[in-house]
Amino acid sequence: MKAEIIAVGTEILLGEIVNTNAQTVAQLLARLGITAQYQTVVGDNPQRLTEVITTAEQRSQVIFLIGGLGPTPDDLTKQTLATHLQIKLAQDPQAVAKLVAWHQQKQQPMPANNLAQAEYLAGGEPLTNEIGLAVGSYLKTEAHAYFILPGPPREFGPMLRQQVQPRLSQLLGRQQVIVSEMARFFGIGESLMAEQLQDLIATQTNPTLATYLKHFEVGVRITAAAESQAAAEALIAPVLQEVKRRLAPYYVGLGEERTLPEEVLTLLRRRQATVTAAESLTGGAFQALLTGLAGASNVFPGGWVTYANQVKAQLLGIDPQLIATAGVVSAPVAQAMAEQARQLLDTDFALGFTGVAGPDSLEGQPVGTTFIGLAERDRPTQVIECHFAGVRNEIRQRAALSGFKLLYD
Ligand code: ATP
Ligand code: MG
Repeated sequence: MKAEIIAVGTEILLGEIVNTNAQTVAQLLARLGITAQYQTVVGDNPQRLTEVITTAEQRSQVIFLIGGLGPTPDDLTKQTLATHLQIKLAQDPQAVAKLVAWHQQKQQPMPANNLAQAEYLAGGEPLTNEIGLAVGSYLKTEAHAYFILPGPPREFGPMLRQQVQPRLSQLLGRQQVIVSEMARFFGIGESLMAEQLQDLIATQTNPTLATYLKHFEVGVRITAAAESQAAAEALIAPVLQEVKRRLAPYYVGLGEERTLPEEVLTLLRRRQATVTAAESLTGGAFQALLTGLAGASNVFPGGWVTYANQVKAQLLGIDPQLIATAGVVSAPVAQAMAEQARQLLDTDFALGFTGVAGPDSLEGQPVGTTFIGLAERDRPTQVIECHFAGVRNEIRQRAALSGFKLLYD
């Protein structure tokens, strides 16, 4: 079986970027024992791309087309191959949903041309892109197998390992199981995490590691390929253990879909414990996250949003003198809010949130400064001081999630 690699992009021809994607594919092909005889670079031009594809089809069975899957008019790779093969493009509903959600989260209207990123070659399969928005495409015809992949290496790399490699193994008639595990962390940035794991990410080939950012959490996906599920899991286990050891303070759990609040709810339910909260800057964000989960009523009787100082005194019995001396954004106030809330509802745990969500600073404290108190039955209260980055809503969200993290620990 012969393969060849076509990198699409005028910027490669101009020498603006180095064609590292071809290198990555070539290394994978070499590892799998597939002969790669040609590599081509072609500009963002449908006519010349068609010529290159036509030539490739005459000498290779597996054809890689890399780059040009974005939403802009110069991104033409899928359309060009579809026209050449006289087939249509189909939309991947999951990719469409992701595009819609992405624009909603960014509060931006979605330009219609963005939908092109959800398209794949009809009759083939979309190749999921976990990092970016453009799906890849795999098409097997009688004579050829085509892989279309996005240009950005951080999207392309994981797709190559997770989507392409198993399909190549299948083409070769080899059975391989791909198993992956996601470890999730909170309170550490993606770049800092990547730095801590740099040597593992760079040197590990099976399993491989990739970092992800999602809902303020960062994840590390560890993916292994082996003859059986058990063999793949055995490859993952020691690497997972090492990743958890290095990032222990930030660890929140395993698995794809669970969020930090879900992990906390599960723990509280298991222990039959209850929690309440008195929130100032978060304005109920903690309680909203908690009550957004089914089963919250088992652990959460109710709580407070006490925004004004006077209401902190009125509803929680916070001593106005304390606020006057310590300042409202302070450890003693976070502690008092948590302790009063816990006593009033006699729960096992209570959180108190006070801080500066911005845009203006408060009492001389810079935007992002937050104190979170955790009161526990028969245990001393803890208070953490945080300095969150971001705009108002990000700060409030991060503060609420940090409350969950404090509770989780
Ligand atoms: P996008 O949605 O970002 O436009 P795309 O799939 O359309 O992605 P391109 O527009 O071709 O991809 O390239 C996007 C970026 O990806 C380039 O600016 C470059 O940084 C990187 N890139 C593209 N092709 C390669 C390659 N062959 N090797 C290394 N990096 C590449
Ligand atoms: Mg592009």
